[in-house]
Amino acid sequence: MQLSERITGITGGGSDGWDVFLKARRMIAQGVAVTELTIGEHDIRTAAPVLQEMHRTALGGHTGYAAVPGTDALRDRVAARVAARTGVATTRDNVLITPGGQAALFAAHMAVCDPGDIALYIDPYYATYPGTLRGAGAIPQVIGTHAEDAFQPRVEDIAPFAAKARSLLINTPNNPTGVVYSRATLEGIASLCIAEDMWLISDEVYDTQVWEGAHLSPRALPGMAERTLVVGSMSKSHAMTGSRCGWIIGPQDAIAHLTNLATHTTYGVPGFIQDASCFALAQGDAFEEEVAAPFRRRRALAQDIFAGQNIVGLVPAQGAMYLMLDMRATGMTGEAFAYDLLESHHIAVMPGESFGASATGHIRVAMTVADDVFAHALRTLLDHAALRSAERAAAQ
Ligand code: PMP
Repeated sequence: MQLSERITGITGGGSDGWDVFLKARRMIAQGVAVTELTIGEHDIRTAAPVLQEMHRTALGGHTGYAAVPGTDALRDRVAARVAARTGVATTRDNVLITPGGQAALFAAHMAVCDPGDIALYIDPYYATYPGTLRGAGAIPQVIGTHAEDAFQPRVEDIAPFAAKARSLLINTPNNPTGVVYSRATLEGIASLCIAEDMWLISDEVYDTQVWEGAHLSPRALPGMAERTLVVGSMSKSHAMTGSRCGWIIGPQDAIAHLTNLATHTTYGVPGFIQDASCFALAQGDAFEEEVAAPFRRRRALAQDIFAGQNIVGLVPAQGAMYLMLDMRATGMTGEAFAYDLLESHHIAVMPGESFGASATGHIRVAMTVADDVFAHALRTLLDHAALRSAERAAAQ
């Protein structure tokens, strides 16, 4: 039977750049010990007190349908957190709780794009972005960035596409590059959104993972609160990836319509998950810093390991749980190097090309294994790159 173009067109049937990851998983299934530096999942699990709260509230009976836009308690808690972090007045009416950031990204585009509208996004991008925009019926238009700018977007690269676009999706701190958008970048983007009457969808799921400088939410810039939908999540900040709890922050009427969409799609998020999320948020900044600390530490380890050599370029980045490495000195594509490293040393990384053309010749390393394993894997990676680069020089 024929399926809809909407669903068959989400990825176009391609692998979407996950081949190296899938090969690593096959090797693991065959019993090979692979060091996996691929997906963005903590090496710690959700904290026991959060799970105890989940258990307590579920046993207490919060297992029926929860309020579709989210419980008042969680919406209030998220609103207070956003207001405290950004200075923008935010109430529960600006908050929709969603089953994770991914569902929020999809719903946000459903809310602002009609079928056939152009939705902009920035390359390198989180792997699901183009499919999410297509799934919502929009036409994705990618905007490249430049390795020499450490992948900080240039507003002049976005501008030519803005007049015809309905929305622009940005992600800071960024997956896969780790770049935190500067105030100048965000102010330029805000001016463009206002001048061209464009919605901004701001994916801020890594907002607690900033190693240098500060995260600025563009919703806080003048004139932006009325045209910005912020995507947030418990996944990265509280090591709750499996709980599927995120949110959209936006203007009250947008949230009302998004609640209507939720009524007809997800019908909300389980109450015991929301209670546990509320509890986790109530633990405050110290808890969030504890969850982020291993990545901060491993980034510093990587800076030491890659210092004083010019074979592997560590892209100067300020946040998130990934490193972007420039492998062009080896003469290999990111994909070729990733396969080579997996086959030679059983270390799995993501090819930069999986995240768009701008990251060609790069690899993304997730900082998601124990410090000693991580440091050993990076040293092995560096030695391997040096070997390939020496072989290349000898052949020339
Ligand atoms: N945005 C970005 C940039 C991500 O990296 C991820 C997850 N890796 C998500 C959104 C979605 O996260 P979740 O659905 O777990 O909240």
